[in-house]
Amino acid sequence: MNAQTAYNELVQKYTDYTTLGSVSGLLNWDMQVMMPPKGNAMRSNQLTLLSGILHDWITSPQIGALLTKIEAGQEQLTAEQRVNYSEILRDYRKATKVPKELVEELTRHQSLSHNAWVEARAAADFERFAPYLEKMVSLMAQQAECLGYQTTPLDALIDLFEPGGTVAMFTELFDQVKRASVPLLDRVTGSKVQADRGFLARAYPLHLQQRFSEDVIQAIGFDRDAGRLDVAVHPFCAGSYGDVRLTTRYNEHAPQQALFGTIHEAGHGMYEQGFLEQHHGTPLAEPLSYGIHESQSRMWENSIARSEPFWRHFFPRFRALFPEQTADATLEQFVLAVNHVERSLVRVEADELTYDLHIIVRFELERDLFAGTLAVADLPAAWNRKMESYLGVTPPDNGRQGVLQDVHWSAGMFGYFPSYSLGNIAAAQLWAALRRDVSAADQKIARGEFADILDWLRAKVHVHGRRFKRDELLKQATGKPLGVADYIDYLTDKFSILYNI
Ligand code: ZN
Repeated sequence: MNAQTAYNELVQKYTDYTTLGSVSGLLNWDMQVMMPPKGNAMRSNQLTLLSGILHDWITSPQIGALLTKIEAGQEQLTAEQRVNYSEILRDYRKATKVPKELVEELTRHQSLSHNAWVEARAAADFERFAPYLEKMVSLMAQQAECLGYQTTPLDALIDLFEPGGTVAMFTELFDQVKRASVPLLDRVTGSKVQADRGFLARAYPLHLQQRFSEDVIQAIGFDRDAGRLDVAVHPFCAGSYGDVRLTTRYNEHAPQQALFGTIHEAGHGMYEQGFLEQHHGTPLAEPLSYGIHESQSRMWENSIARSEPFWRHFFPRFRALFPEQTADATLEQFVLAVNHVERSLVRVEADELTYDLHIIVRFELERDLFAGTLAVADLPAAWNRKMESYLGVTPPDNGRQGVLQDVHWSAGMFGYFPSYSLGNIAAAQLWAALRRDVSAADQKIARGEFADILDWLRAKVHVHGRRFKRDELLKQATGKPLGVADYIDYLTDKFSILYNI
């Protein structure tokens, strides 16, 4: 068998693997959106069975043999084929490096740890969760040893979400963000300009909120024939290509939550809809990383949908749907209200300016836990110290407003948090480049014309899938590798104007 034949066989198998993965994704969507409560046991069996089959598939000796055959004749492959080959090789290596016993032990511990976290969080009792977290840190450190790393075990875990990302890289980026955000937050919270948000607390009927959200995502370019919007407790985006499932949740007395949440998920969804059809089922039609995925959602949610031009177009429509609720609100007040900045305790409720500080707290604690300089027992005190130092607030206890607020650590998802901020940073860098390339972007947004913006994102980001490494992609799109300069300029300009500081 020559390399080309082996490649064709490999891609066929990989396409079957991703197709099976999409079945698992759809079952998961159904579990969170449609499934009746008593379906839980059967669904859990279905998903466990599928995840076992998926793991066997990607680690099978047949895949290994095909990869070896291709390696010997790589020069027979086209440039695109080489990308698919090396990305599948990367996934195969990651999956085969961790022994099955460790994977199983992790899966078992995840469900115990999750239950312990739920109880500990409700009781604000960190000690109840601490032994589970200690074991989780130790299991994930073992996984990091299997995967391999250059400097610190956390590097191996970050790499699972953000290929090539390291503790050193994020420390450098985040130190710069911190140095800019902390004093900017002081100035914003000290400003005389403060939003009157009273009108947003009135009653906004859910079916009208839904109609408005659906109109907005359609207007910005989410293909409604290739996706849908439903309700879930924890909003997410699932699926790909011609079937992208967005979810949101409505709060009658805070319409901005569902609205910006939906736009965020639509940003993820448009990335998934934007891969090239001829590459479907292969790495060339898969997202580059969690951080780049997040850059797409954050750009639509924050850079575009929280801007004044955006609401010049949409506010009249919003007013028409909610005339009484918005009777005394002006466009300026509305824009200020949806950009309200506040020192807060809970990450998922944080505004655009303070969000990264919540992430940086978590990243630094993970870094110290895996470097062995912070013990799990000392985590609550360290958490509170950092919250006070960066955000100027101290949690009342360790529960849902404190160290136990996020689900991630109970699931062993160390190294995940930095992707959120990488999304913000990359979004600002792409946004700055987009505004140089797309003429009169603000005027277009104010007229409700989003096609040029989406086309730019398609051409610079979406169509490439996993073709380039993150810095290569950014260099081609923006002229430089990942850096925080554009992000700091963006935050400073935006909030200086809004808060008149
Ligand atoms: Zn997101």
